[in-house]
Amino acid sequence: MINDNTKIAYFSAEIGFSPNVPTYSGGLGILAGDHIKSAADLGLPLCGITLLYKEGYMKQKLDPDGKQTEDYPRFHPRPILKPVEVDISIKLQNRQVKIYVWRYIIEGINGHKIPIYFLDTDHEDNTEADRSITSRLYSGGTKRRILQEAILGFGGCLVLDKLGYAKIETYHLNEGHAAFLTLALREKFDHDLDKVKSHCVFTTHTPVPAGHDVFPTEILKDILGDLLPDDLDQSIVNGKLNMTRLALNHSRFVNGVSKLHGEVSRQMFPGFKIKSITNGVHHTTWTALETREIFDKYIPGWRKNPLLLRDAADIPDDVLWQMHSENKRRLLDYANAHMHVGFEGSRLMLGFARRAAGYKRAMLLFKNPERLAKISEGRLEIVFAGKAHPKDEQGKEIIHKVVQAANKLFGHVLITYLENYNMWLGRLITSGVDVWLNTPLRPNEASGTSGMKAAMNGVPNFSILDGWWAEGCRDGINGWAIGGNENTGDDDHDAELLYKLLEEKIIPTYYDDRDKWISVMRESIITSADFTAQRMVNDYRKLSYNC
Ligand SMILES: *Cc1c(COP(=O)(O)O)cnc(C)c1O
Repeated sequence: MINDNTKIAYFSAEIGFSPNVPTYSGGLGILAGDHIKSAADLGLPLCGITLLYKEGYMKQKLDPDGKQTEDYPRFHPRPILKPVEVDISIKLQNRQVKIYVWRYIIEGINGHKIPIYFLDTDHEDNTEADRSITSRLYSGGTKRRILQEAILGFGGCLVLDKLGYAKIETYHLNEGHAAFLTLALREKFDHDLDKVKSHCVFTTHTPVPAGHDVFPTEILKDILGDLLPDDLDQSIVNGKLNMTRLALNHSRFVNGVSKLHGEVSRQMFPGFKIKSITNGVHHTTWTALETREIFDKYIPGWRKNPLLLRDAADIPDDVLWQMHSENKRRLLDYANAHMHVGFEGSRLMLGFARRAAGYKRAMLLFKNPERLAKISEGRLEIVFAGKAHPKDEQGKEIIHKVVQAANKLFGHVLITYLENYNMWLGRLITSGVDVWLNTPLRPNEASGTSGMKAAMNGVPNFSILDGWWAEGCRDGINGWAIGGNENTGDDDHDAELLYKLLEEKIIPTYYDDRDKWISVMRESIITSADFTAQRMVNDYRKLSYNC
């Protein structure tokens, strides 16, 4: 029985392991998938628990003005996921909700297998309303969200017990969404709170308030009934249960996802011991085909041991340039075919792709469009991508504004916004552009992972010193820092620094000093050795899992 030796259960509201399975919205879910893949590579005795979203996260459509609409194509789990024979139901809103369980096996590089269990309320015996609890990721209002998180926490705990996982030593709560698990464990361990705490570890993923669920206790009581204990005072703030505090109060080890984010989290939650484990990306998932072929040839062994990426010095200049040109050509072909944009391989191409959230400041680049046009002189091309949550009107407005600004710059800077950013497009863009731009409002980008994907493919970063880049950046050597280690909070100031770097460093280096540029590319790959999910999971093993 594979279940017998499993010691770690990893709970996450989203796990994205393939572009073909729409159970993720962005960074958090993809990170969870990468975590599990590297745990499989390393042979860790771990299993994953998440929800099955048959209508997934949405498919984004953009009209020529950049107005977003959404489609919800239905995902059929068979044959990718296998049904698991087990009867699970939990009582929510005073009725039994039945849960189907599906499984996917992640196989590591040495053949070690890790199962991911997907919980699905689309069961014939459920009411129509209950059938749709798990249909869409981050959909509906407070009630829907509580129901989903209850399925994850209480349902997930039940699944493990019924499947015979009797030796779990560590329950990893990936973000506060999974915190109801702690309440399920209180029951399991006969209300021995110290015991619960000795079994749980928690990772917090963002300093942004919207990322921390709070639920009014009245609504919680209606939905959870007896599942909700009445001694949660320490986790209740102004009549609302704070899921982050619930997790903090029940965990033996807590971490943020970069050094800077660890510091910020300690300020947010004084009184808790919060460490940091910097995120990483799964190396064979996020390298383009061409990149993998070159690494196989020049850095043999990198698939098993991606720390060897430090040996990228062995890749000759012309080979590295050729590899990148091939990656870039794939992106250009896609963009030109889909958007008829007329991108041209010889121009400097910037990439910016991420969820449309205010703090990520997609519009910073357009702070002064005349200035940007003047700096470019027809030498710049830019690829944008990223979804806004269907209910996030501000996020949709950001996309609309970016597209409008892009249209106005036609003839000076060639810009396109690619629809429906997903894992597939993520790899194509991060590996295909010449330089990767990130302009978050410091210190809100807890880690950021797309820049690591770029670096691993030899694409230099050009970013605010936030999240991982505050650790990874060697300015002028493996990329460029916009500003220093302070929170300016000033868009005009940051935009000015961005323009100056573009004009004085990035464009001249790209066009006039190709040797230097290739050296920055190579240093990016060398740096990426420190930002692999394998390094991250090894850190979790030592610091968090103690195994
Ligand atoms: C990597 C990735 C993300 C997360 O990137 P950030 O830098 O953390 O914003 C989001 N969406 C997709 C599709 C990705 O590939």
